[in-house]
Amino acid sequence: MIRTERLVRSFLELTAIDNPTLHERALSERLRQRYAALGIALEEDGAGTIIGGSAGNLYAYLPGGETLAPILLSAHMDAVAPACGKKPVLHPDGRITSDGTTVLGADDISGLCAILEAVTSVLEDGAPHRPVELLFDAAEESYCTGIQQFDFSRLRSKTAYVFDLSGPVGSAAYQAPSIVSFRAEFTGRAAHAAFSPEEGLHAIKAAAEAAAHIDCGRVGDLTVNIGTITGGTADNIVPETCVLTGEARGFDHPLVLRKLAEIEQTIRQAASRFGCAVRFTTETLCQAFRADPEGQAAQRFRAACASVGLESSLTVTYGGSDNNHFCLHGLTGLVVAPGMNSCHSCQEYTSADELTRAARIAEALIVSRK
Ligand SMILES: [Zn+2]
Repeated sequence: MIRTERLVRSFLELTAIDNPTLHERALSERLRQRYAALGIALEEDGAGTIIGGSAGNLYAYLPGGETLAPILLSAHMDAVAPACGKKPVLHPDGRITSDGTTVLGADDISGLCAILEAVTSVLEDGAPHRPVELLFDAAEESYCTGIQQFDFSRLRSKTAYVFDLSGPVGSAAYQAPSIVSFRAEFTGRAAHAAFSPEEGLHAIKAAAEAAAHIDCGRVGDLTVNIGTITGGTADNIVPETCVLTGEARGFDHPLVLRKLAEIEQTIRQAASRFGCAVRFTTETLCQAFRADPEGQAAQRFRAACASVGLESSLTVTYGGSDNNHFCLHGLTGLVVAPGMNSCHSCQEYTSADELTRAARIAEALIVSRK
């Protein structure tokens, strides 16, 4: 049985542990202890060493009914800053917040706790269940750098439920975008701004010209943003360098790549107008996925919600998650809401009720027969 009191205790305990990205060691040790007490050995991979973090990804396979297909349950261990010195506060109405000076870390400790309580409950009850793979990754908030080092060939599941979506419990995202970032480094020529300005090539003017010609916001079916511009050294020097960075997102990966090619062209034209050289690079941070909202993964999720008296809602998200990477490696996955609100801010909150509902969904997925 899902026990709210035990679940809330776990949540308060785990959120009180410092867990900024690349510093997940203490939390991962605690998770391993908690699962060891259930007889489950979480194995750590070498991702931490590769990405320069303190912990790798944790993985375990929990055998279950042999005729049933395994499912993957996943949540990430790190939280966005400020994630040190967190002091979770349980309010009399069941709401849980930080003390206002840090994030709460419900993103994604609500997911970790939903899965932990569900597994605890199933084992305690001796309930028949399907095989389950558990995967708790490091460094998700830095564009999934941890999970990208995971050996996906280990996975036996064809279906993933990634407990990492903000919004009401009962919702799950079946579609998420490609996110591709770009960086343009303009190089002109420095000159004294008053003695010999004609000898200079103005890198900031070139970058500004490019920025002025790149449509931002919702652009067709995509979103485009210029996020930073940095350049110049002093008011009396024609700036030699300027760096422009930004991103494009969309559900159609080739369309995003075409947009990046267009942005590159705009940037090259602006650079040449000012006689500047430009180095343009892009990085695909995650690749779009879409699961069939009527497919088996979605139907099982809907049934799980219904079995615990919850309304379900299948949505799309504009954020990336580990699920983008699971889908890239051949799984079909949904991103499930475990009870996190106002994420990535010090106003982040959850509640005992939300945590309980999320754990019930996780449990229903584990004991599902279809
Ligand atoms: Zn998250």
